[in-house]
Amino acid sequence: MRLFNRYALSEIRLCDVCDGHDFEQLAHLRSPRIPDYSAPVAICRSCGFVTVRPRPNSSAYREINRRWYPFKFSADPPSDKDPDKKFRKWRTMWDRIETRYADGPRQVLDIGAGQGWAIEFLKSKRPSLAAVAIEQWKPSQDYIRNELGAEVVDVDLNEDWPASLGGRFELVIFRHTIEHLEEPLKALRQIHRCLADGGYAYIVCPNAETIRPDRAVRTDFLRPVHLHYFNRTTLQRLAIRADLVADVFDSRGELWGLFRKRRDNEPVGDVAGENSYERQRKFLAQRLRGARWRDLISSARMGVRHFLARSPLATVADD
Ligand SMILES: [Zn+2]
Repeated sequence: MRLFNRYALSEIRLCDVCDGHDFEQLAHLRSPRIPDYSAPVAICRSCGFVTVRPRPNSSAYREINRRWYPFKFSADPPSDKDPDKKFRKWRTMWDRIETRYADGPRQVLDIGAGQGWAIEFLKSKRPSLAAVAIEQWKPSQDYIRNELGAEVVDVDLNEDWPASLGGRFELVIFRHTIEHLEEPLKALRQIHRCLADGGYAYIVCPNAETIRPDRAVRTDFLRPVHLHYFNRTTLQRLAIRADLVADVFDSRGELWGLFRKRRDNEPVGDVAGENSYERQRKFLAQRLRGARWRDLISSARMGVRHFLARSPLATVADD
């Protein structure tokens, strides 16, 4: 279903995880939020990494993000007062990291900080917390600076982050962000640079091997703002390329781990050479088959909406 694609797909890169170039196409993603976009999702035969390939160029991808994100932040403004909504995922983080930060971390870097609620939560553990947020959304920047007293760095995550962040942080938060980045390895290398000795990066992303069987895949799990779909092998392999190793790693639901700098000459274990292609391909093929009708109905609805929006008979604009 590439009928209504408004964006050229021109970017072809080597595999981020293994530098391979032997990819197999799995499916085309579509979304009711951006019905005039479709992109092929492919798997690397040499390591099992799943990624959009070919993908839109940087400016097209930025436009896709701009179209997607107003939905998210208008529903969840930084000033929201509901503690359950604000802190649920940060309580989960705390359950996972608490044993390593008895009274809360002293210096935190939150990458793609959103509304700043992780910093707000951690300040309840240690009020003197020194925090830096990398965030480009203006209302969030104001809230983080003025209400939370934290430093805001206004930089695109794909660019070089300021050198002043180097070696400073006991905790780096990188939650549901890596799957959006055009250069995920570059970001992990920058995280390595920002970590203090003994510090950890809390890295979380969706798991391409735990999609629920009742979920639409092409029209929901695969989504325009995600460029990559990691599994336990590919996330750890990519981290190892950045000299980051996980002391704790869990792949039962979403993928999450506590990563630290690899020590000199420290062995990295079997995962560094693991090829997850057979395992990952089999799982996704099964889920794609199972979601066939759900995806088809969703795509048909998008087609109708798109047609009505273009037709001179339509009285209401689609966006
Ligand atoms: Zn690969």
